[in-house]
This record gives sequence, C-alpha cells and structure tokens, in this order.
Amino acid sequence: MNHVSDYFVIDGHCDVLYQLEQDEGQRSLRERPEGQVDLKRLQEGQVAAQFFALYGGEPNRLMLAQSSALKQIKLLYRELKTNPELVLAGSREDVLKARNEGKIAAVLSLEGGEPLGDDPGLLEIFYRLGVRALGLTWHERNLLASGVGDRESGGGLTALGRMAVRMAQELKILLDVSHLSKRSFWDLIDLAQGPIIASHSSAYALCPHPRNLTDDQARALAQTGGVIGVNFNSPFLRSQGRAELADVVNHIDYLVQLVGPEHVGIGSDFDGIPAGPRGLEGPHRFPDLALALKERGYEDKDISNIMGANFLRVLP
Ligand SMILES: [Zn+2]
Repeated sequence: MNHVSDYFVIDGHCDVLYQLEQDEGQRSLRERPEGQVDLKRLQEGQVAAQFFALYGGEPNRLMLAQSSALKQIKLLYRELKTNPELVLAGSREDVLKARNEGKIAAVLSLEGGEPLGDDPGLLEIFYRLGVRALGLTWHERNLLASGVGDRESGGGLTALGRMAVRMAQELKILLDVSHLSKRSFWDLIDLAQGPIIASHSSAYALCPHPRNLTDDQARALAQTGGVIGVNFNSPFLRSQGRAELADVVNHIDYLVQLVGPEHVGIGSDFDGIPAGPRGLEGPHRFPDLALALKERGYEDKDISNIMGANFLRVLP
C-alpha cells in the first residue's frame, strides 16, 4: 500500500472560532462531534498548524464585527489555557517548535477587515493578539475594499484599505485575497510586496464560482511567491452536488499544473461550510488526501509542500 513519508499539514482557513462564539462558548475545541474541527481530529490529521479565522463580516451585523472578533480571540485563549497541546503561533519558528513538541499551532487570521472599522491602526492591536493574516473584506464592500459580493460598485481598494495594506506589510501580516472583488484583487497585487495568499479559494477554470481564482489571478498570486489554499466547499469544487475527495485532488492538480507545486496548499474552510467533500469530512481525513495525491502520481516532496510546507514558507 502506498505511504507518504514525512509531511505535516497547515490548513489556511477554518471557521471553528465563529462556531464556538455561536455556541456562546458552551462547547470546547477538544471534541465537537456536532462540528467539523476539533483538537482530536486535528491531531489525527497530522495538523502542525491551523489558521483560525476571526469572522464577523455579515452585513447585517457590521457594528458587532469588532466585539465578535475579540470574543473569538477570547474563546481561543480559553482553549489555549485548557488544552496544553494547542499553542498560539506567530511565526514559522513557533510552528516548527510546536511541531517538534507534538503540539498544534494556532495562527489567527482576520476574515475581513470589518473589525478594524475605520481605523487600520487597530491592526497593530490585533497583531499583538496573534493575528498574522488579513483579508480586507468578507464578501461585501466595507471601508477598506470591495468583496466578491459587491457587484454594483465595481470597486477596489479604498484609501483606508491602502493604509491597511501598508500597515499589514510593516507588521508582516500576510494579505489574503479570498473574498476580494476582481478589482480589489488587482489593486492589492499592484500595491503589496512579497507573498500574498488566497487562504481558501479554488480554481475558477474547473468550477466557475466567483469565489474561485481565474488562471490569471492564480498566476499573479504565484508570482508574488504566495500560496493558494484549495477550498473544500462543494459549490467551489463542482457545479452540482456534493463534492468528493477526488474533486479536491482535481483542483490541487489543476493549480499545480498551472503555477507549480510550491504555490498550492489547503484552505479547508471547515466549520464555515455545511459539509466537507465525501471522504474529506474533517481534518482527520487529511492523510487520505495525501494518499490520494500519491496515487495521482505526486512525489513525497511535492505532497509535503502542498499539505503544509508551502504555507509554512510564507509565515513570518
Ligand atoms: Zn470565507
């Protein structure tokens, strides 16, 4: 039987903190049979680092975005206290240290700049709390940028959004294009230096969903040295029905052919999607994905890059 040696997983996106906030902190990250992500399944999945998104962008609760993000950080901190196998990570070094100690590294990301309100300077506060990636908007248009949901204005980055980009780059916070409108995407590519990520987006050529990246976008992002984390949401993977593990492999393979194995990763979106693909229902199934890549003819080195080493490379 095939076996993939020596790899770890870094997943660029999950929404479990938002789910914990919805549960009003009643449930713990240790075991969540009702959800998709928990510590047990992350361990089974050989996850070295998990990006935990702070999400609060729904247009009807914009005023609550900031308190929502802070509550989600509070809930993660509570988990750090009660679960010694989970540690907060702010750098590549932190992730490697956690990995050596058999722990799971938690990296915080802002899924939308809504919690910053009208003050990009708050990024420094979020940085101190552990945030290492920023998407300027979740879906709609906010004070920083337009998202894919804003089909009317055709807008890109605002002046405040540009300030936020510069601030993020000074702090070495990764910029994330998932959820940006086309124009915001290209504005960001023009403005930013260094690797840019798409934390949870798949290939538009295989599934024409506005949340996916076109070939031109994928190539431009790869040219920054960045990483595209393939999203496991069925509507992003295939036009109809529930996706399967093979669909995820198809998207990874397509992007690898397009931009090379150094620029493709995993951005599961677990707990932000109704269900994972069949065969990839949670992080505990990541080893099946590694094996499926092997069966597709991938070398261990490329598998290890895709499963985690690429995201490790772009961390500060
Ligand atoms: Zn998302």
